[in-house]
Amino acid sequence: MPNLELAVREIAGEMRLRTDRGQVASYIPELARVSPQAFGLAVVDVEGNVAAAGDCDAPFSIQSISKVFTLTLALGKVGDRLWARVGREPSGSPFNSIVQLENERGIPRNPFINAGAIAVTDLILSGHQPREALGEILRFVRYLAGDQTITIDDAVAASEQRTGFRNRALANYMKSFGVLDNPVDFTLGVYFHHCAIAMSCRQLALAGRYLAQFGNNPSTGLPVIQPERARRINAIMLTCGHYDGSGEFAYRVGLPGKSGVGGGILVIAPGKASIAVWSPGLDKAGNSHLGRIALERLTKRMGWSVFAGQPIIGERP
Ligand code: GLN
Repeated sequence: MPNLELAVREIAGEMRLRTDRGQVASYIPELARVSPQAFGLAVVDVEGNVAAAGDCDAPFSIQSISKVFTLTLALGKVGDRLWARVGREPSGSPFNSIVQLENERGIPRNPFINAGAIAVTDLILSGHQPREALGEILRFVRYLAGDQTITIDDAVAASEQRTGFRNRALANYMKSFGVLDNPVDFTLGVYFHHCAIAMSCRQLALAGRYLAQFGNNPSTGLPVIQPERARRINAIMLTCGHYDGSGEFAYRVGLPGKSGVGGGILVIAPGKASIAVWSPGLDKAGNSHLGRIALERLTKRMGWSVFAGQPIIGERP
């Protein structure tokens, strides 16, 4: 069995030295202030061992990674009725694209592009005030991570609220097709705030354990969701979790993953581990550049892939 701690430490060391770091997101002004030099990595295996290195305890904006948790919550609330509002096919287009929405009558391709995640947030909001819905999402994330200190970065939420014209367009467009039930501003308010949840790699890897452990929360021994549902969420992460970079991510990393424009990625090795990486510089598709490279190294070394069953020795580009 390869040594997990050593692998995590060595990979974090290699990533520190790299000069190709991608571009930090700037369309949310508050995110542009983050240093591209940051790098964190944390892994929690199913035995409960934690291996972490670099800036693994620094909180960052989880952004679209929150969509994994909102999808889980919404499925718990409305079950498979959710799929009447959102599809589950890869979009092949950028995370904030509007073109598909017109052809597909306001039904977003999947729950991880912005339009889909806004529709999912709208389902969570129904029957609640925005503050209550947001409280429910935050409590859920804290429960999954076993950490009550996790909070929302209000400066990031306010920054996106001021500048989120594209998301406002997507939401209004869906509203015109009757896909959103609540006032657009309420739904967007909850959406911007859950995207602004701040977590460290360690907290995020802990929160992802239920997807690596067939729907169970190992801290409590209680099911979070049915194993079948965990399997399906993992499938959507694999096919849609990196927008139009999802194919490349599957090709290189071989595991379900969800990225955020804060530079984080949550990755699930089913039955083996939950992994979180953070490097704020992004590639063209808006996914962490070094995060993906680090994950490729780690998963090859550990033999973690849904497509292969053993470690891959030696590197090829
Ligand atoms: N809050 C961001 C947005 O809606 C999330 C995008 C992302 O992380 N890919 O634009």
